[in-house]
Order: sequence, then C-alpha cells, then structure tokens
Amino acid sequence: MTEQALGADARVVIIGAGHAGGSAVAFLRQFGFAGPIVLIGDEPTPPYQRPPLSKAWLKGEADAASLMLKPESFYVEQGIDLRLSSKAVAIDRAAKTVTLDSGTVAYDVLIIATGARARRLPLPGADLYGVLELRNAADAEKLKTAIGPGKRLAVVGGGYVGLEVAASARALGADAVVIERESRVLARVACPELSAFFQSYHGAKGVAFELDAGVEGFEGANGHITGVRLSGGRIVPCDAAVVGVGAVPNDELAAAAGLAIDNGIVVDGEARTSDPAIFAIGDVTRRPLPLYGRMHRLESVPNALEQAKQVASALTGRKQPAPEVPWFWSDQYDLKLQIAGIPFDADRIVVRGHVEAAKFAVFHLKGDRIVAVEAVNAPPEFMAGKLLIGQAKPIDIAKLSNDSVSMKEVAA
Ligand code: FAD
Repeated sequence: MTEQALGADARVVIIGAGHAGGSAVAFLRQFGFAGPIVLIGDEPTPPYQRPPLSKAWLKGEADAASLMLKPESFYVEQGIDLRLSSKAVAIDRAAKTVTLDSGTVAYDVLIIATGARARRLPLPGADLYGVLELRNAADAEKLKTAIGPGKRLAVVGGGYVGLEVAASARALGADAVVIERESRVLARVACPELSAFFQSYHGAKGVAFELDAGVEGFEGANGHITGVRLSGGRIVPCDAAVVGVGAVPNDELAAAAGLAIDNGIVVDGEARTSDPAIFAIGDVTRRPLPLYGRMHRLESVPNALEQAKQVASALTGRKQPAPEVPWFWSDQYDLKLQIAGIPFDADRIVVRGHVEAAKFAVFHLKGDRIVAVEAVNAPPEFMAGKLLIGQAKPIDIAKLSNDSVSMKEVAA
C-alpha cells in the first residue's frame, strides 16, 4: 500500500475530526490525493485546536473562529464529506465498513484519529453540577462560566492542563487551589527543578496548593459542588472543580475490531496498524520513537501533525518525513515553556540560565548527549537543544552550563 500511491477512486474514511484527523485531510489534499474523503466527528464543530481551551480562549483572548484548523469553506471546496455530530460505533474489517450511529460507510483505507478523553475519578459526588473536565470546546464553555471574579476554583491534578487552568483562573480574578496527589506539581512530566519553579511562580500569583493530597470525593448542596474532600476528611471549599488527571486513549473501537492495542493503538513509523488497510494517528496511538528506540504514546499537537503527515505520505506514495524530536509547549502567565525530547534514561541534569529571572533551561543528558530540554522563556536553548537531540551529538557539558557561551557555539 505504501510503496505506491492510493488509486484515485479509493475512499479514505477518517474517524475523529480533531487535530490529527483534520490535519490528515489537509495533508492528503496538499500531497495530491484527489479521491473521496469522509471525515467523521462526534463533536458539532469542524476540527479545531484544543491548546487554547486552557489558555488564550479561556481567558477570553481568542474567539471561537480562531480555534478552527481550517475555515468551514475549506471542506466544501476540497470536496470533503464532513459528517459532524456523528459517532462511529463499530468497524467491520472483513467488510471494510464503519458503522455510525446514523448508517454505514464503506472504506478502502481507514484512519482512526479518535484522540483521548479526560480520565475520570470514580468518586462520590463526581456527578455534582460544577465538577468539570477539560477536553473539548463544550467542556471549556462550562469551565469559562465557572471562573469569574471572586469564584473559587479547585483544580484536581497539577499537570500542565491543570496549571494552565489555574493561571487562566487567576487572570480572570478567580481564586484557584491546585490539589495534587504527589508531593510536587508536574510530577509525571517534569523534573523536580521545574516543578519547584512552577509552584513558586504560581504561588506568587496567588494560587494555593494542596500537595500529597488524595481526593476522597466531592461535597455538594442542592446538587451543586461546594467542596473537595481530601483523604483524612478535610474539605477544600470551592464553587467548581476541574479534574485534570490525565487522558485515556479512545482505542475501544480499534480493540473491538481486533487491532493490536497496548495503552493506545499500536502503529508503525508510517502510522499503520496491525491491519494494512487501517492507519491510526494522534493521541490514540502508541508509536515508535526512532530517536529513542522505543514505543510511546504522545499527547501533543506536533505528534498529531507528524503522524498526519506520515499517513498522507504513505497514501500518496511520498517519501516518509524524517522522524521528528517530540516536542510540546505550555503557556502560563508570561511564561512560555517549551519542551523537546523525553528524558528516558537520563543520568544528569544541567540548568542553564537564571531561574530567578524566569529565563532558563533544564537539559537532561545521557552521558554527553542531550535527550530532553525544558526551556522557560528560552527559545534559543529550546531550538538548539531540539536540534542536538535529533542529531544525538555529543556536547561539551562545561560550555552548555556556561550561559555566556552561546547555544550556537554549544551546538557547533
Ligand atoms: P483530538 O484533537 O482529541 O480529536 C479526536 C476527535 O475524535 C475528537 O473530536 C473526538 O470527539 C472524536 N472522536 C472520538 N471518538 C469518536 C468516534 N467514535 N466517532 C467519531 N468521533 C470520535 N498539545 C500541545 O502540543 N500543546 C499544548 O499546549 C496543548 N494544550 C492542550 C490543552 C488542552 C485543554 C487539551 C485538552 C489538550 C492540549 N494539548 C496540547 C493536546 C492536543 O490538543 C492533543 O494532543 C491533540 O488534540 C491530539 O489530536 P487528536 O486528533 O489525536 O485528538
């Protein structure tokens, strides 16, 4: 399938009209595929960007139209059969059909781009009004109404999305308390140095923290949340709580169809699943990371774009793009955090720059090679770090540690 381009009449069906699915459509057309494409999404809107939902959009600094990946007219002009508010409920691999809640669609090639959903906490009171999650535009609308001036927001989970929501809540004049089970925020995703920095920055902006704090349930009155009950019984009062404790891949359809699954749909470097007629892209996949020699599930826009490019290249007979260094960003207050790479097996850390001036980078090294960089308001460190990770090039650690030596020279 991948060596030669797909026939002009072959029908491509994509389940999931999110960042990955929407990007796959755009790349397929850009790379010359003129055949029929059906894009199925269970949300009422064409593909949009999720990152602003916890940042600019939540603060009222971006309008809904600016979130769209492409204007609605794009899908009409490009002859895309866009089926919104349609849920795929089954895949029949023998018949090559997808069953929707409203009919059946036949495919020659299927792309699964169903993303992930917010992990839920099965706790008493989780169904109270005001217990919220943040994965899509509808969730963001509800959250926005909950965080005006003087409102008290509890953020359960101190990950990136939780911290971004806390920052946006403060910007809107709400009180925010972050409740985290671990002893530090960002415990799953960042090094202790970065966690300490973000906690202190948020603290200075008025965010309160409950660390080492398990959540036992949500308290309510008249069906509305009034507080979060911590283990031990103490109650953190609030008007709303947003639960941000990670995401779960929407891989059930693929599992029911018998595709290989391992915390996500297992794909190869061209985004192909264990069925050669079915590809999968985005948050729902477990994919190879050639630079690290292992499989991993990534949740990021750059990953969705990279895999959308992989599948479009495979289907149009184009050369596959070179593997990218995984990267991610987060915006909180005036802080721009950019992360490249993943610190698998890192054995030392080098901090470069000035933490107290909120302009620094933490490099994670394995021997004399950089495997990841976390850069706060430090784009040159991010860019050079990303390059060096991709090149797997040994570096001079003394030069890297000395910020009077430019990153250009470190990378030379
Ligand atoms: P999604 O964009 O989630 O799209 C999947 C779509 O498939 C959804 O519309 C879903 O409803 C639909 N779907 C699922 N099942 C079915 C079905 N059976 N039938 C039909 N449709 C279905 N990434 C970054 O890189 N930087 C950031 O700063 C950042 N911030 C984020 C902030 C928030 C609040 C969130 C939620 C995510 C953020 N991300 C960020 C992650 C990024 O948005 C995701 O990695 C990206 O959206 C993944 O794209 P996707 O297409 O795989 O999944």
